[in-house]
Amino acid sequence: MTDPTAEQADIERVNFLLTLRRRGISDRAVLRAMGDVSRTAYVSADLASSAYVDQALPIDCGQTISQPYVVGYMTEQLGLKPHHRVLEIGTGSGYQAAVLSKLAREVVSIERYNTLADQARRRLNAEGAANVEVIVGDGFDGCPERAPFDRIIVTAAAEEVPPALTAQLADGGVMILPLGPQNGPQHLIKLTKSQTPDGVKLDEEKLIPVRFVPMLRGKAREL
Ligand code: SAH
Repeated sequence: MTDPTAEQADIERVNFLLTLRRRGISDRAVLRAMGDVSRTAYVSADLASSAYVDQALPIDCGQTISQPYVVGYMTEQLGLKPHHRVLEIGTGSGYQAAVLSKLAREVVSIERYNTLADQARRRLNAEGAANVEVIVGDGFDGCPERAPFDRIIVTAAAEEVPPALTAQLADGGVMILPLGPQNGPQHLIKLTKSQTPDGVKLDEEKLIPVRFVPMLRGKAREL
């Protein structure tokens, strides 16, 4: 006999991938990774029934797990290769890190809330994402000890590109980040770093409009 709950879960996952494809995510490796990661494992039990809806959901500490389409879009824009080392700013639930972990060699993810970092570590371990390291710290500083990074993804909105992050991007590296004021228009920006005879060059491309929680300075005092 088929288990109706399991069947329902399968239908949800198929619809989830169809929605991502319909919205324009076409990279097969990205779709496969998103099909393989359980979003349910990264949200609280009371939100389990909404885990595969294409929307941002609340997590602890007043933060949000990003909308799946935006996770897919940013991941696709990163153009990950299996040998890449990736830095993520804003671990949050750990979901984006879990998706990255399927596509890259190593993921270092920084979160300013202890509570979220602990919870994300537990969830990532339970889901077998062994190549992710979650660090509590201020993402504005990046992680100089582990730099350079082939790819950097920022999942909280800053008003300007944090200089420490461009400095920690490898030659030929790509960084995707949301830029803009907390209550105003924000866009995803894609920066590509290259060395020229005149020095380091950063190509900037403006991508889609988005809405992210703010990137705040310092480790969180509470929790
Ligand atoms: N990638 C996450 C999205 C989390 S929302 C996910 O998949 O769930 C953004 C996160 O960025 C929040 O958890 C917030 O606490 C964190 N954040 C904001 N400013 C930060 C900073 N300066 N350093 C590190 N994390 C930061």
